[in-house]
Amino acid sequence: TRKELESYKGKESKTIDGRQVELAGNIGTPNDIEGLIKNDAEGVGLYRTEFLYMDRDDFPSEDEQFEAYKAVLEAMNPKPIVIRTLDIGGDKELSYMKMDKEMNPFLGYRAIRLCLDRKDIFKTQLRALLRASVYGNLKIMFPMISCLEELLEAKSVLEEVKKDLDKENISYSKDVQVGMMIEVPSAAIISDILAKHVDFFSIGTNDLIQYTCAVDRMNEKIHNLYNPFNPAVLRLIKLVIDNGHKEGIWVGMCGEVAGDKRLIPILIGMGLDEFSMSPISILPARKLINSLSYEEMKKISDEVLKLTTADEIQEYIQKVFA
Ligand code: PEP
Ligand code: MG
Repeated sequence: TRKELESYKGKESKTIDGRQVELAGNIGTPNDIEGLIKNDAEGVGLYRTEFLYMDRDDFPSEDEQFEAYKAVLEAMNPKPIVIRTLDIGGDKELSYMKMDKEMNPFLGYRAIRLCLDRKDIFKTQLRALLRASVYGNLKIMFPMISCLEELLEAKSVLEEVKKDLDKENISYSKDVQVGMMIEVPSAAIISDILAKHVDFFSIGTNDLIQYTCAVDRMNEKIHNLYNPFNPAVLRLIKLVIDNGHKEGIWVGMCGEVAGDKRLIPILIGMGLDEFSMSPISILPARKLINSLSYEEMKKISDEVLKLTTADEIQEYIQKVFA
């Protein structure tokens, strides 16, 4: 019941044997702050900034972006706020930006690829982010990184922007963590390499499932193949968590799977550090995590990783938690 869930407000998200994780919210605009507070979010794990750019006639100015980022950082301070740089392209288009028609938009000119090509757009956003960083606990996250070169280039643009701000005597926080999404299989596979260059990973299962299984996430006809229980997907998730931890960085998840009650116990067992979900799912997730034993979930997730099909895995999980 809602009343019972309310009793989890202010509580830690901790297993019975003391493993604590962070339960954060996914948001799209500063209007979502209310939902974060109402549901006692411990931070923001994904602020999808593309909504700032959509349904309008031109790019948002640096100041306009600054105000939006500042509003969220200030309202939630000192809680961590992960703001993702522009993830446009694919299914999300801008009416005022002419884009060539592509055979495979999801495999095309989108997100960080577009930003590295259009440094004017990218730098404006990074300036706004850095200027807003003094108002709270900002973490910057790059979407759709598929190789080390992209990550290093994105980071070097960020350094350039910092130098520009230094020259102009504009202040920004020196403690901004820089992370990346793991939503492309190539990034998951080389996550041991990438982990040396970031402060955190956040696994984007919506795209990771789509790309790993070659299943369009919007296509109803093949929806049965779009399955988070697919052993290939679960193995990649485990690989990314282990590789992140080997390099001493934290690993979160901001795709739909992070709020999925059926998979939260498995993710706890795999050692995931942060779960970012629709704010409404936070209190139910906290209640669930407070009932779990980390040591037990570790054993169950190890068993899950030995199974061979999505059905087998789903049945096993159902049986164990029946
Ligand atoms: C994801 O791909 O899992 C993700 C969180 O990003 P989006 O849903 O915005 O593509
Ligand atoms: Mg994505």
